[in-house]
Amino acid sequence: MHCPFCRHADSRVIDSRTSDDGLSIRRRRQCPECGGRFTTIETASLNVIKRSGVIEPFSREKVMSGVRKACQGRPVTEADLAVLAQTVEESIRQTGASQLDANEIGLAILKPLRALDEVAYLRFASVYQAFDSLEDFESAIEQLRLDHGRAAVGADAQAESAEA
Ligand SMILES: [Zn+2]
Repeated sequence: MHCPFCRHADSRVIDSRTSDDGLSIRRRRQCPECGGRFTTIETASLNVIKRSGVIEPFSREKVMSGVRKACQGRPVTEADLAVLAQTVEESIRQTGASQLDANEIGLAILKPLRALDEVAYLRFASVYQAFDSLEDFESAIEQLRLDHGRAAVGADAQAESAEA
């Protein structure tokens, strides 16, 4: 990589650090020509194709703001949203995709959101999966009940007693 100070064609890595979430690497570099030091951050590219066709980098903040609306009045904290956005990013990166539709991000949000808060999940799903009738809500709620029945112990059961 070119030195940003003198444009020398090479630079030397003097320190390399992986971020806490493991999704990026920060490198301290030094130019052998002028001695200038600078930092580069390396991340795997992940882009989102919006409905309008515009391509933009994946943003955890956008995931959080989309979910935040569905969580209004629910016992969901900003820290919960941050963890959810990280989970979504990790699950998307695990697929190896470097570019995906905004709709696929919506789908990737559904599962962790459901584990976080079922009411917020229903609100979010109603928008993302375009529920247009009471029957759509009924079948989504029925599915939640069925899954609760299957997992009588564990996190789901705790969520139920917390709601009671
Ligand atoms: Zn230089």
